[in-house]
Amino acid sequence: MITRMSTLFLRTLREDPADAEVPSHRLLVRAGYVRRVAPGIYSWLPLGLRVLRNIEQAVRAEMDAIGGQEIHLPALLPKEPYETTGRWTEYGPNMFRLKDRKKADYLLGPTHEELFAQTVKGEYNSYRDFPVILYQVQTKYRDEERPRAGILRGREFVMKDSYSFDLDDEQLGSSYRLHRDAYTRLFDRLGLRYTVVAATSGAMGGSASEEFLAECPTGEDTFVRSSESDYAANVEAVTTPPAPELPVEGRPQAEVHHTPDTPTIESLVEFLNDAESDRKFTAADTLKNVLVKTRQPGAEEWTLLAVGVPGDREVDMKRLEAALEPAEVALVDDADFAANPFLVKGYVGPKALQDNGVRYLVDPRVSNGSAWVTGADKSDHHVVDLVCGRDFTPDGTIEAAEVREGDPSPDGHGVLQAARGIEIGHIFQLGRKYTDAISLDALGQDGQPKRVTMGSYGVGVSRLVAAIAEQHHDELGLVWPRAVAPADVHVVIAGKDDALGTEAERISAELDDAGVRVVLDDRNVSPGVKFADAELVGVPTILVVGKGLSRGVVELKDRASGERTEVAADEVVDQLV
Ligand code: ATP
Ligand code: MG
Ligand code: MG
Ligand code: MG
Repeated sequence: MITRMSTLFLRTLREDPADAEVPSHRLLVRAGYVRRVAPGIYSWLPLGLRVLRNIEQAVRAEMDAIGGQEIHLPALLPKEPYETTGRWTEYGPNMFRLKDRKKADYLLGPTHEELFAQTVKGEYNSYRDFPVILYQVQTKYRDEERPRAGILRGREFVMKDSYSFDLDDEQLGSSYRLHRDAYTRLFDRLGLRYTVVAATSGAMGGSASEEFLAECPTGEDTFVRSSESDYAANVEAVTTPPAPELPVEGRPQAEVHHTPDTPTIESLVEFLNDAESDRKFTAADTLKNVLVKTRQPGAEEWTLLAVGVPGDREVDMKRLEAALEPAEVALVDDADFAANPFLVKGYVGPKALQDNGVRYLVDPRVSNGSAWVTGADKSDHHVVDLVCGRDFTPDGTIEAAEVREGDPSPDGHGVLQAARGIEIGHIFQLGRKYTDAISLDALGQDGQPKRVTMGSYGVGVSRLVAAIAEQHHDELGLVWPRAVAPADVHVVIAGKDDALGTEAERISAELDDAGVRVVLDDRNVSPGVKFADAELVGVPTILVVGKGLSRGVVELKDRASGERTEVAADEVVDQLV
């Protein structure tokens, strides 16, 4: 069916919405694809819904191709399954919780591992039943702390989530690879530039996990990749080869210490106020990074150390020196700070290190709330060198792990480069966390029950609309790849002459008959308004029926390249079909 602009439920906006920080948000609102209802909650209008549906269909096609079977579970869920796995409390404030009229607890599903596992347990019980892959395309609810950038981070959003159920680790590995390959085909098909990065599995639990990050400067995830190999990892998950020894040579000699000994903000304030300084500090003072150089007596190498001090650089160096003794200390000037290769982005607290399974060594002499730590993960891999200041982050969470751009890579090839991305997909080998919780077993050939192992795989379907828009737009508007575009051809009647309308109707009808999706701008507005809307809406091909018709030609404009060509009006349908 031809979509007529004269009746389409669409009003484009000339002005950017005041709250829009990123291009996709600005353009999707201006072009009338989505409308805000509340923070992180959006309505889909006709053109937006078409793009969303196109992406859903592409997702379904790739899931079906790997043998996935679509089902649909409720979004309104009882508490009990989530209580069984501990996630009713673990999931924290991001979970929408509610009570029914009988005061029973419910939640709006943020992700569905529990219910999928329970559903399989309800139907399957023999080894012959496995493996199986189930999926749904469904609305998810997360009370995000900072809903952001329109539909990029919603509190209500559409996710494709699939779950694999296998009898052993090897089978789980192959279900995981099937998904990884399906995601690669999907994101290629959707015209995205993306990187697959090693990831941490966080609240989901489990072992192997990778994220698909659409490359984009406005993305919220930072990742590093090697200049010469396939190595890529979210900064949260960077591991480097085992350090020869901890602590690394050249740093102040460290002793093993644990959290209780870490000084408090009060002691830092006391320390600073004790020093002969003009100003007095309070715990509420702004904290600042200062770089300090240290070296061991007799050593040639200086080591850079970031120290957090309140206010200006009035830290008493003599006191700091005493704290660091026997190492020599010198304050590094601003120039050096700028040139330093570390990405000093924030403080990391010991609690966060412990929560992430990082063992750490703290030099007790670099006291007063800041300390140099050398971290190692559970398998003794050298993870991060960072500055630790638990008392500087109210909740002790990791704001940013420190990864050094320009470091050799972890796999021995090239150096690390940092970039930003939008998480569009995430795949996990969960293992038996959820199946253990509900005793999901398959009766084996030998008559013995066998614990099923699980994988979970998400695609941010509604987020993809925004991620694609982030990568495909220009200053005039959206520029959709054909696979997701709301139409193929946008026909503009550029003039009042009846002959133009008649020819545009004929061309549109023939294109429509041939299965080409047409938008026809048959409104009674100026050609200038129509052109501006066509650029804004972003259909891949714009066909202008205007002045040239007196010479028997119409104009084709490729939205992406901007290239214009004149084509005989009676040949244009053949050319586009
Ligand atoms: P993020 O790190 O962006 O918060 P997540 O790691 O919490 O995402 P997952 O639990 O891995 O998300 O969910 C699978 C996919 O769902 C994500 O890869 C992402 O594409 C999408 N997604 C997650 N949260 C949102 C949201 N608030 N709005 C839109 N899409 C989302
Ligand atoms: Mg999240
Ligand atoms: Mg994430
Ligand atoms: Mg994720």
